[in-house]
Amino acid sequence: CDGAGTAAAWLRVAEVVREHRDELVMLDREIGDGDHGENLRRGFDMVADRLTSAEDDTPRAVLRLVASTLISTVGGAAGPLYGTALLRAGNAIGDRPVLDAAAVAAALTAAVEGVVARGRAEPGDKTMVDALQPAASAAVAASERGATIAEVLAEASAAADAGAHATVPLIARKGRASYLGERSAGHLDPGARSTALILASLAASAA
Ligand code: ADP
Ligand code: MG
Ligand code: MG
Repeated sequence: CDGAGTAAAWLRVAEVVREHRDELVMLDREIGDGDHGENLRRGFDMVADRLTSAEDDTPRAVLRLVASTLISTVGGAAGPLYGTALLRAGNAIGDRPVLDAAAVAAALTAAVEGVVARGRAEPGDKTMVDALQPAASAAVAASERGATIAEVLAEASAAADAGAHATVPLIARKGRASYLGERSAGHLDPGARSTALILASLAASAA
């Protein structure tokens, strides 16, 4: 299994999002409006409905379907940001029928560039960029070392998890949490957490 470009891998992501819906709602209640878990649950349930009929598609086609579904169903800040990330990731992969390690690294790099282009957050602003940026860097480094696709995703996932947890002491400078100013410190950013969960699921599918 190539882990990140198959319908099976994204169906598993949809399950993981559902399993963590309440956790993401709680995190967003602390520094946002409490809808992040439900927004993603709704979007990924729709992804799961649409993906079952797309099992033979190329990685780009799978990512395109996930992206367009999230853009049209998630709403809030995260829907368009994840949608843009996955559209860019799909374009970076191109027409290859199966992913390889370099393509995964290129896809993650394109994904973070898409999020930054759309949301203008910088590393340290306490957003999903704080998980996605280190994941992309780790993936590029692993791929350049000749790591397998499973190793690239495992290292990206570990970096995303560390990056997400490093958002706890930060003061939010983008999104709803920024309205809280210094009171946003001491809480895990929900979008960074969901990014880490998605990458952990993709890594598990590739292992
Ligand atoms: P909303 O804030 O509209 O309710 P969600 O709750 O679904 O949207 O998503 C909130 C998450 O979106 C935040 O935790 C943060 O990670 C991410 N986010 C918000 N604004 C930005 C931005 N400008 N750039 C990157 N990520 C952002
Ligand atoms: Mg919210
Ligand atoms: Mg909202």
